[in-house]
Amino acid sequence: MATGLSLELLERLLSSKLTESGDSESTNVEKYLETLDLEGVANYMKLCIGKQGLKNYRKTAKVDKTPEMSSSGEVSDGDQLSSEITEGPTPPSISFPGEKGATSLTPESFIVVMTGAGLSTAAGIPDFRSEDSGLYSRLKKDSSFDLPSPESIFHIDYFKQNPVPFVKLAQELFPGRFNPTKSHFFLRLLQDKGLLIRLYTQNIDGLERRAGILDDKLVEAHGSFHGARCIDCTADADMQVVKESILKGSVPICSQCNKGFVKPNIVFFGEALPPRFQDKSAEDLPICKLLIILGTSLKVHPFAGLVERVSDSCPRLLLNKEPVTGGDMLKSMLGLPTGLDFSEERGYRDVFVGDPCDISCEKLADLLGWRDELEVLYKKELDLLLEEQKSDPLLQLVEHTPSTPQGQDEI
Ligand SMILES: [Zn+2]
Repeated sequence: MATGLSLELLERLLSSKLTESGDSESTNVEKYLETLDLEGVANYMKLCIGKQGLKNYRKTAKVDKTPEMSSSGEVSDGDQLSSEITEGPTPPSISFPGEKGATSLTPESFIVVMTGAGLSTAAGIPDFRSEDSGLYSRLKKDSSFDLPSPESIFHIDYFKQNPVPFVKLAQELFPGRFNPTKSHFFLRLLQDKGLLIRLYTQNIDGLERRAGILDDKLVEAHGSFHGARCIDCTADADMQVVKESILKGSVPICSQCNKGFVKPNIVFFGEALPPRFQDKSAEDLPICKLLIILGTSLKVHPFAGLVERVSDSCPRLLLNKEPVTGGDMLKSMLGLPTGLDFSEERGYRDVFVGDPCDISCEKLADLLGWRDELEVLYKKELDLLLEEQKSDPLLQLVEHTPSTPQGQDEI
């Protein structure tokens, strides 16, 4: 694998000058795009951050005349670029189509992030489907849950009959008991630097919020413990009361109708996704210039289809234990090409890195020159969260912790 695209070549690829100049040197541009790796993505990010030099990747990839690489033939030094960016002229602001209503988009926002359970396994939260360590595997073995099938715990019809197993599980997984990983804080850095358009998560562990991702920047596609309501009269419930009830192991009952069970606003099987998922994805994906996907096997729809909704010129970086594709469910059923593609023929803008998420995020932070910042943020915020945990008597009620999972999978 190449060590990353030459910055000069990458810059030219992203610049309309390439197509206008009609350079006489002939190079197969797609060949270089196929070698896009983590370092190439970091270089691409630096260019986007520093110059807003975003042009149509696909358009440039089609030209058959390209300039030479840098005169030395070497990959440029990242530090040099960083200083260029710092000292260079202020980049012109760019406007995004479809920006309407997205109040917090800065001119620099260009990244959409998608996450799954693999992001949180390092925090000690089990993923759902791993064979030995996954939640479903445990529910199958643990007779105290007494479920018709492991998945029933998240079925709305089953919950209506018997909410006890879910409450038992929620007692263990309730937000506040676990802390975000370094990867979560890498995503926080993307937000703090104004680069994040939105973070779409399938996770219900609330770790994005604990890491400081703002409401506006977050789409919790499968809901969260952030709110709760009655399954009969749909009245919103007081979260403090719900938290106390769940952490004490009892099923919360609605204070309005005095009979309905109260369920945290997690999307169960048989329930629709929050409208925010459709609304924001329609706004965000078309303007996204870099898609970063962490710790998900992209098996659950419609979430997995998001990867298909960015433009053909948008690089897609997958940080996961295995290369997965996701994509449009219908196309996939019809056997049509869809989703991520790491093949030599078509994989010109998809990058796969198979390390654990935290390792990949550390590497990316290194390449971007953000590592110190990441470490300081991580330590500072984690200390605060640990203090908060110690001072919450409700969290001390639960002794049992789920078995430490391994590997990455997804909900
Ligand atoms: Zn009610």
